[in-house]
Amino acid sequence: MTTSPDAPLIRRAEILAIGTELLLGETVDTNGARIAARLAEHGVDVYWSMRVGDNLTRIVEALEVGLARSDLIVTSGGLGPTDDDLTREAIAELVGETPHVDPELEGALRAFFERLGRTMPERNVKQAWTIPSCTPLDNPNGTAPGWFVRFSYKGSPRIIAALPGPPRELHPMLEEQLLPRLALPDAHLWTRTWKTSGIGESHVADLLGDVTLQSNPSVATYAREDGVHVRIAAKAEDAAQAEVLGRPMADRVFELLEAHVWGRDDEDLASLVIASLQRAGARLAVAERASAGRLAMTLAAADPERGALAGSVVGWRVDARDVLASSSDARLDSLTDVADEVKTFFAADAAIAVGELRPVDGEGGGVQVDVAVRDASGVSTETLSLPGRSGPWLRDRVVLLALDLLRRRLRDSR
Ligand code: ATP
Repeated sequence: MTTSPDAPLIRRAEILAIGTELLLGETVDTNGARIAARLAEHGVDVYWSMRVGDNLTRIVEALEVGLARSDLIVTSGGLGPTDDDLTREAIAELVGETPHVDPELEGALRAFFERLGRTMPERNVKQAWTIPSCTPLDNPNGTAPGWFVRFSYKGSPRIIAALPGPPRELHPMLEEQLLPRLALPDAHLWTRTWKTSGIGESHVADLLGDVTLQSNPSVATYAREDGVHVRIAAKAEDAAQAEVLGRPMADRVFELLEAHVWGRDDEDLASLVIASLQRAGARLAVAERASAGRLAMTLAAADPERGALAGSVVGWRVDARDVLASSSDARLDSLTDVADEVKTFFAADAAIAVGELRPVDGEGGGVQVDVAVRDASGVSTETLSLPGRSGPWLRDRVVLLALDLLRRRLRDSR
């Protein structure tokens, strides 16, 4: 498929996700995220993303706002057959054209239903509508073709692309039908994400100082489940140039945050720990109370061959010494005893033991939990402090902090 020579270069795009359920929070707008990410990868600036309910006036209004500032608007949803599917009506109104039934689309629609052994409900004819400015986009995964509408808006060339709401229909249409039709800047983006732990977002911002103020390369912080991430992004005409622009800034950010960085890009803590163990040819035993088995589960998921995970024990009690204790006079009074015993029990080279949550009295409250790590270089215990919150959140935090402790121990004992 080729893009016609006079197709407008898409420098700036925005996304309009249509559907009242999106406004009410019943559906999360994952389509918007996907479309934005794919456009950004092609060097398009996505400056706005909106959500609007199934209301003709408000959809038209949102499209008008978008056309005043963006070369392209990609909509998702509202292409179904019912009265509250209003995307086609809104685009037609805006462009000033009247929809008509396209016989070819209607034929394809009827054939689709026939293949399913059903008669097409007459209300579905609406999905065979088109307008003169529209090129329909094939939808082999559903009934609603997309609309690719090129027109002039107040003297400027504009495109509205309407894609269906269901992600399994939208994703292929985006890749196979929409992106190839667009004249894209194809600027290249070079990105690096540093992942930190044990430090809050505002502390990270303090350490970064004014590097976050510039735009290319840009430096942005994100508070994520596994700690604060710092993303450096540089854009240029080709990949090499983008890297030349981005890498020095990434190095500078790393220097500023080095003490807190545990990984980069798509690395995850559990995989880093497993890789460290594998490099050392060591096997780890796990004993846990506060994290209730989640630490072992997380490590096991990163170690499908179970090469580095020797075994795990959850929720031991004093009488578990009958099972765990290597000798009848072994004591399991302290966490380091538990780490030692679980290491012996599973004939491992290292062990981690996560203790029980302890509420902290007084101002601020919260909880504390001890974690003991035993390896060839000795045993150490750290006390982790966490704000008081509900169970699953706390367990996840305990797992992350314990993994980070393990990562540091394994790194330092190398
Ligand atoms: P259909 O022909 O299925 O009615 P449609 O184009 O009219 O398609 P909607 O009715 O708006 O799409 O949405 C259909 C389903 O697609 C929603 O119930 C939801 O599950 C999913 N969906 C819609 N919009 C989004 C979105 N922005 N992000 C993620 N999923 C979405």
